[in-house]
Amino acid sequence: SGTLFIVATPIGNLEDITHRALRILTEVDLIAAEDTRHSQRLLQHYDISTRLTSLHDHNESQRAKQLIEKLKLGENIALISDAGTPLISDPGYGLVSQCREAGVKVVPLPGPCAAITALCAAGLATDRFKFEGFLPVKAVAKQQALQRLLTETSTSVFYESPRRVADTVRQIVAELGEARQMVVAKELTKTFETFYSGNAQACLTWLEADANHQRGEFVLMIAGEKQDQTEVSDDALNLLKLLMKELP
Ligand code: SAM
Repeated sequence: SGTLFIVATPIGNLEDITHRALRILTEVDLIAAEDTRHSQRLLQHYDISTRLTSLHDHNESQRAKQLIEKLKLGENIALISDAGTPLISDPGYGLVSQCREAGVKVVPLPGPCAAITALCAAGLATDRFKFEGFLPVKAVAKQQALQRLLTETSTSVFYESPRRVADTVRQIVAELGEARQMVVAKELTKTFETFYSGNAQACLTWLEADANHQRGEFVLMIAGEKQDQTEVSDDALNLLKLLMKELP
């Protein structure tokens, strides 16, 4: 049978695409894209005329079956998303898991990912990190997700939309305190790429200082809570967690 290639594409700067990605996108029989019109621009830029079909959140389960039929007939297909690495807060999970079940070969082509791009230049600890994708939109679920970070010791990485970024940082201040260190990375690989780092309150003040600071695409990173120097045992911590649940 054919192969499904998972191909990372640029997150802003069109130069951020590998030689291998361009070759595979040229050679495959079909490219499945999240938004065919959006991806057409990238393909035109590189003179690639491979046929496009759509695969997005709303048609994925049905489209995946059709694509697997084609793969079984020997066609090679590339999956791309609007930006960055497919499946990372983007469609494709259904297709890849079904390919694995059906015994269809899946080959990843590594490239840009906003989370990793942000993390590697933020200056926060990178030995351990948690990728959280987008926070829940609903207030209570969002609050609970942030509260889980109170005792998180590794760096947390979030995607956030420009519409919600200031509100989210306001909630980070409320739930984790104004002193928690964080980094706001925006417009990565683009002309107005910016890293703002400071404590949560300073980041909020910066975002609120100018409407332009809230425009564009964002990755939010929150430093891990410093591990207590006074060695508290796991048992004591678990007991503390239990007791905290009982507090009003
Ligand atoms: N698959 C993509 C990846 O590998 O990073 C992520 C797709 S997700 C739907 C889109 C989100 O990624 C944006 O809302 C933003 O949080 C983040 N993002 C994508 N491109 C970015 C960029 N150039 N600068 C900052 N954040 C970006």
